[in-house]
Order: sequence, then structure tokens, then C-alpha cells
Amino acid sequence: MATGWAKDGAVQNQIDSTVQDAVERARHQLAHGGKSLTHCEECGAEIPRKRREVIPGVRLCVTCQVERDKQDANNSLYNRRGSKDSQLR
Ligand SMILES: [Zn+2]
Repeated sequence: MATGWAKDGAVQNQIDSTVQDAVERARHQLAHGGKSLTHCEECGAEIPRKRREVIPGVRLCVTCQVERDKQDANNSLYNRRGSKDSQLR
């Protein structure tokens, strides 16, 4: 397990810090495995128990998660493009 993270760490050095933040946050949630919120931290809607079982550490309802994922996707796209540009320069 530890060696797996070490390998990931080497790759992460090349990833923009914003993306790394998101990865760290996600990893943090996984590390606390199963500590899901009963209610969405964004809108306060109740998170179905089944969703909490499927996604350990879930903090958002489906609606907010979709929105969050869209934003994350945009962010990582920007960052990936940004770091590629700076490498080419
Ligand atoms: Zn929500």
C-alpha cells in the first residue's frame, strides 16, 4: 500500500498544485473511509443511505456531486493545458 502511494507521489510532482489539492482531498476522504455525511454539505439535502454505502466518505447529494464533478473536470482540463504550455515554453 505504501509503495503504491510513493509511486503516485512521483507522478504527482508534475501535476498542478490545484489538481493535487483535489487529489489530496479525495484521498483524505477515502482515508476516513465510510465517514459519510447524512446530509449534503452543499444544499443540506439528505443523502440516500445506499449512496453513502456505495461511496465511502461521500459529502454531497447526487445533484451537487454532478455540479462539483463538472467543475473539477473543467479545473483539471485548465491545469493540464496550463502545465503543458509551460513545459513547452
Ligand atoms: Zn446537495
